[in-house]
Amino acid sequence: MKVLLVGGGGREHALAWKIAQSPELSKLYLAPGGAGLNHLGEKLTFGDGELEAIADFAAENAVDLVVVGPEAPLAAGLGDLLREKKDVACFGPGKAAAQLESSKSFMKEVASAAGAPTAGYGRFETPEPAKAFLRGQTAPYVIKADGLAAGKGVVIAETLEEADVAVDEMLGGKFGEAGAAIVIEEFMRGEEASFFAITDGENILPMIGAQDHKRAYDGDKGPNTGGMGAYSPAPVFTDKVRERTMKEIIEPVVAEMKNRGTPYVGVLYAGLMIEDEAPRLVEFNARFGDPECQILMRRLKSDLLPVLYKAATGDLKGATLDWSEDAAALVVMAAQGYPGAYEKGTEIKGVETANELSGVVVFHAGTKEEDGKLLSNGGRVLNVTATGHDIEEAVARAYAGIAAIDWPDGFYRKDIGWRALERRDA
Ligand code: ATP
Repeated sequence: MKVLLVGGGGREHALAWKIAQSPELSKLYLAPGGAGLNHLGEKLTFGDGELEAIADFAAENAVDLVVVGPEAPLAAGLGDLLREKKDVACFGPGKAAAQLESSKSFMKEVASAAGAPTAGYGRFETPEPAKAFLRGQTAPYVIKADGLAAGKGVVIAETLEEADVAVDEMLGGKFGEAGAAIVIEEFMRGEEASFFAITDGENILPMIGAQDHKRAYDGDKGPNTGGMGAYSPAPVFTDKVRERTMKEIIEPVVAEMKNRGTPYVGVLYAGLMIEDEAPRLVEFNARFGDPECQILMRRLKSDLLPVLYKAATGDLKGATLDWSEDAAALVVMAAQGYPGAYEKGTEIKGVETANELSGVVVFHAGTKEEDGKLLSNGGRVLNVTATGHDIEEAVARAYAGIAAIDWPDGFYRKDIGWRALERRDA
């Protein structure tokens, strides 16, 4: 099978690593790939934003399957372009279904129509009714830009004054088009976890749960980031939570999307708030999480490629995936200053040594190679993953990997997995 993988971050490195192990793979193309994963396939000259170039190449080169890593090309309609105009199978939803991620009000509307448990909400395009709505809510107040804002379009305000400022800023253009409308939500209490399910639009194959660490610094302090670490299994995501998530959220939402004539094809990522083993939906993402995908790939024993193909071609019925009983953990090494301003082009040594350690695999999130040297090329730069017989061992091995890497310009959190370890100690 010829496969084209769209994207080039840590998530795509992990997907490429897994897909490259498949006996069914004959050729892997990468658009645009990256320093860490280029050896796994053939790097193309265009990037993940060049939709027409991707679609033309796939059609002209008889690509059997396009796997889309990031959300932006999906939200821009790459799935439709491939399926409808080029007759190429695509793992990833079309533009209409990708709105489950790209429009928060769309997600809320679908969740209510499907009866999926989520926070109560209101949608507003002007400040006055938004502020009036806030006065009927209790603190803390949750205010979100409706569109994609790279994880930065959410404000949790402790006071009405702060909430009003957020409303004015968002509707005043702080996030451009993404903030043309806002959603105000009821605040949900509990512990967050994420869950992933693959679907062909009708049949659903549940994957596993994971937890990530969004804040930049130890103790879950500091600014929000794309994610500084992750691990699986997540003790809060019990069998009961998993069953309820499937029955109450994933199944009715997939059925609702099919009934609307816009079936959801790909992986559905549900961000959950869990309290007393009751899951409520915080958000959907229309693709694998980054860094959670890396953890999933480390725990997946089965061949992923046939399952991606089956999902993309409406043939998922009866498909299964086998998961390792082992735990997996991931620690992100980021450039100092991230998620604010940071330097690029600083030298990193020791990745090969880290990769030789027991259970360790390093995925590249933002690196480049120049004159035989490995250089940083982004905010989140390396994903050091490790497996172990429990979370404690997986985390310890990941930190052994970190210790082998010599990068004075990087930083990482030292407490990845603390929630899971605390529960174990309780
Ligand atoms: P990201 O890209 O970081 O996932 P996003 O922009 O898609 O963010 P959400 O996932 O909707 O935004 O919200 C970001 C975070 O804010 C959540 O992970 C959660 O911690 C918190 N949050 C969002 N909505 C609520 C809510 N209703 N109650 C409590 N916390 C919430």
